[in-house]
Amino acid sequence: MKKLILGLGVTGRSCIDFFTHNNIDFKIFDTRNKNMIDELSDYESIKEKMYFLKTPKDFLNNIDEVIVSPGFNPKHQLLEDISKLSIPIITDIDLFKRKNKTKIISVTGTNGKTTVVSMLEHALNGCGYKSIACGNNGKSPLTLKEDYKYIILELSSYQLEYMTDFTSYVSLITNITHDHIERHESFQKYLNTKKNIFKNSSNILASNLIKNIIDSSKDIKFFGIENNNNTCLINNKRNQKITFNDQVVCLNNDSFAYKGIHNLYNILAVLSVSETLDIDIYKCFSQLKHYKYLPHRIECIKSHNNTNWYNDSKSTNCDSTKAALEFLDKNIILILGGSKKNINYNSLSNIINEKVKLIIFLGENKNYIKTQLDTNVPTLDVADMNQAITLSKKHAKPYDSVLLSPASPSFDMYNDYVDRGIAFIKAVENIVN
Ligand code: ADP
Repeated sequence: MKKLILGLGVTGRSCIDFFTHNNIDFKIFDTRNKNMIDELSDYESIKEKMYFLKTPKDFLNNIDEVIVSPGFNPKHQLLEDISKLSIPIITDIDLFKRKNKTKIISVTGTNGKTTVVSMLEHALNGCGYKSIACGNNGKSPLTLKEDYKYIILELSSYQLEYMTDFTSYVSLITNITHDHIERHESFQKYLNTKKNIFKNSSNILASNLIKNIIDSSKDIKFFGIENNNNTCLINNKRNQKITFNDQVVCLNNDSFAYKGIHNLYNILAVLSVSETLDIDIYKCFSQLKHYKYLPHRIECIKSHNNTNWYNDSKSTNCDSTKAALEFLDKNIILILGGSKKNINYNSLSNIINEKVKLIIFLGENKNYIKTQLDTNVPTLDVADMNQAITLSKKHAKPYDSVLLSPASPSFDMYNDYVDRGIAFIKAVENIVN
């Protein structure tokens, strides 16, 4: 009997290494043409195990288990055939959990996953608990070589859809808003997939922003801000020792600047996990003081003539762009748009009216966004990033901000959000001086 790996990306490759290492027989299928796949030469010795584009007849004979990568099309005929034959489908995360029994902290949510897992990794290591963040952040758990006190797993809805083993010591949802409806068909299905994370968890934590859409029968501990009295909530308890204004958060005599209210939520998520793990909250707080925010997330890349230029290329939905607009002062030039997805951009109308002075549309979905937005803000269309930066420079006055926060994926023009962010940075370097 053999294993079948679906998808030859980061996840599929980690499964190849894992099976090779453990002497388990396998084969691989990827829907792409092999010319489109990078570094295939690394797999010369197993090329007879690899199949591309189409599968031969009887391909599923002798397959006892399928490992599906998050990027593999869930509507592909092969997955239907696999289901008809009742062959079990699992993920790399399930494979990992069979071999590794380290305590797991699982994190999901529409936005903030990578930020929260990287903050947690930073804080736990700083407090003396050897930890690593892996999963959807691009580091495959199957590649881990060392022992850890905690493994922090970032899980996307694509992973939670096929996972079978939900065992975690702590599981946490950062927030849930409309996204990925193409894949999950409805918001309810998307929400239900996310809630899988709570299925076999000893401690369940969630943002109070999703209190009314989440199953109240579970023993969920909420974190967040209670708006009426500006009080921080950690594991259902109001914590009067934590105070904040719109820039700085304090705990007793310790304080640091945070980057937007959404990141205060991310900080409270981390403090909730650390309290659940019985880690001293003061110690954790003082570690967070030294946390360095990740690139491509409201990253200030240049200040020139008192105008700040921000790269928020990682924003692929309305809620993350809203977070960026809330963080910045008025008079923003917003570079918006990218590849098309089924979300309602009208939710950005109010904040755009309040804070944006000019929208520069870049990307294939510009008309789709325009028909949904209800704003009086002037707009310009551009064909590429250089043009977006040239026009932003022309219209920017001192104390304005220029923000690339596309609220859209990048695949219409770029390989991924990193590629798009780098294009923005390079264009700013070349044009703004
Ligand atoms: P994810 O891994 O879920 O995509 P990231 O931490 O990479 O999340 O951030 C993605 C985008 O969401 C960035 O634009 C970032 O500024 C924004 N963001 C981060 N945390 C939050 C949050 N708690 N709420 C809303 N937006 C957030």
